[in-house]
Amino acid sequence: MKIEELKHSDCCGCESCANICPQNCISMVRDAEGFSYPKINHEKCIKCGKCEKVCPSINARENFPAQIPPILVVINPDEKVRRHSSSGGAFSAFSELILKDGGIIFGAGFDENWHVKHMSAENFDELENLRGSKYVQSKIGDIYKRVKSELESGRKVLFSGVPCQCAGLKNFLGKDYENLLTVGIMCHGVPSPLLWESYIKWLGRGHEISRVNFRSKRFGWNNNHFEITFKDCGYYVKSNMSDFYLQGFLLSTTQRPSCGSCKFKFPNLNCDILLGDAWGIQNFAPEMFDNRGASIIVVNTNIGVNYVNKTKLIFKIVPLKAIINNALFFVSSAEDERRQDFFDELAKSNLPINTMQKFFLQDFSKISRKNNQVTSERLSQRIEEIVKHYK
Ligand SMILES: Cc1cc2nc3c(=O)[nH]c(=O)nc-3n(C[C@H](O)[C@H](O)[C@H](O)COP(=O)(O)OP(=O)(O)OC[C@H]3O[C@@H](n4cnc5c(N)ncnc54)[C@H](O)[C@@H]3O)c2cc1C
Ligand code: SF4
Ligand code: SF4
Ligand code: SF4
Repeated sequence: MKIEELKHSDCCGCESCANICPQNCISMVRDAEGFSYPKINHEKCIKCGKCEKVCPSINARENFPAQIPPILVVINPDEKVRRHSSSGGAFSAFSELILKDGGIIFGAGFDENWHVKHMSAENFDELENLRGSKYVQSKIGDIYKRVKSELESGRKVLFSGVPCQCAGLKNFLGKDYENLLTVGIMCHGVPSPLLWESYIKWLGRGHEISRVNFRSKRFGWNNNHFEITFKDCGYYVKSNMSDFYLQGFLLSTTQRPSCGSCKFKFPNLNCDILLGDAWGIQNFAPEMFDNRGASIIVVNTNIGVNYVNKTKLIFKIVPLKAIINNALFFVSSAEDERRQDFFDELAKSNLPINTMQKFFLQDFSKISRKNNQVTSERLSQRIEEIVKHYK
């Protein structure tokens, strides 16, 4: 199959094809929803087929590991780092090891306009910008090429991203590197960059923003808030449920079409270590629960095991059932059935903000209940298949 023949529901936007093209003739072009898809300049294309070969959606496979990988609940002992991290600060603990060895970190950060893209960090100050979840699709740009060039120079590299980006990188590299650590982020789905960019511009309204935090722990980790700090006039803080951008994300209305049928769930994880929130920690590691954040990590490879052993993370090994609270480790999120209506409306409007306000500033408990029901039905079915596989 050719990359341009992929349906939008199959292309995850990982940008592996654009990075590999020897002719540089693939551009990622935004559609009306604000998601980017590859477009080939056929005059320059030499039909080498490399783009199809590296596409993780065309080549997705389910390779079950011989055993269920180890699952741990972890907490970073550095309280300041944990406070600024989305869950337990695991990402920073692994990054610290790489930086101390003169290595380089690649992950999702904010640019000067608060747009989200993949970038590098070479010291602890730069790492700050990569810390924390950003609920919007991150632009990869030429990052896979930069990762490869750093690896080839012999430097240690940590690449972090959602699982489809880890798959895109692995396919782009085409071989294993001992000096690479891949850290995947458990993923609900990614909202449209167009919506985020319109939203943050509207929210700023001329005031300079000094910090954006999708996972503020001001009222406790279990009671997540979205928080924006302004340089000159305090801050904006809202619970997830009362912010319309966050509602669009959590209801899976504004996510990329491929996220509703994501091909990068267990066992197709493509990373050494996968990080998520340790939801339900009270049940399986109550002694570690302090409502300041804890991560759950899945250690998929020996490289991952070596790094876990070297970190200062406080940890406890937990059974598979501890991860059942992270349904999205196993199955895709259930797309909101109003998704198409939302984007149709958006296409007609000059102001994305108006469409977002119209759709999301209302009671959503019914939609949320329905989505949760679909997800839990998918989960039960999937768990049955996995159990059968390991029997
Ligand atoms: C879009 C999205 C959806 C998520 N959905 C879930 C979920 O359903 N269930 C769950 O358990 N956990 C989910 N997480 C992950 C979780 O919230 C924490 O980020 C994770 O547990 C790591 O936390 P930490 O404290 O170790 O480090 P943190 O410092 O909080 O982690 C930051 C890391 O996340 C990466 N990152 C941040 N934003 C993005 C982005 N937009 N695209 C790619 N990489 C990004 C950074 O590169 C960095 O490596 C999601 C994260 C994102 C970004
Ligand atoms: S076939 Fe080769 S040259 Fe053509 S777009 Fe794909 S990678 Fe580029
Ligand atoms: S490589 Fe990634 S961006 Fe390119 S077509 Fe495949 S899924 Fe889409
Ligand atoms: S849900 Fe799947 S396809 Fe969507 S961003 Fe996450 S890993 Fe990629």
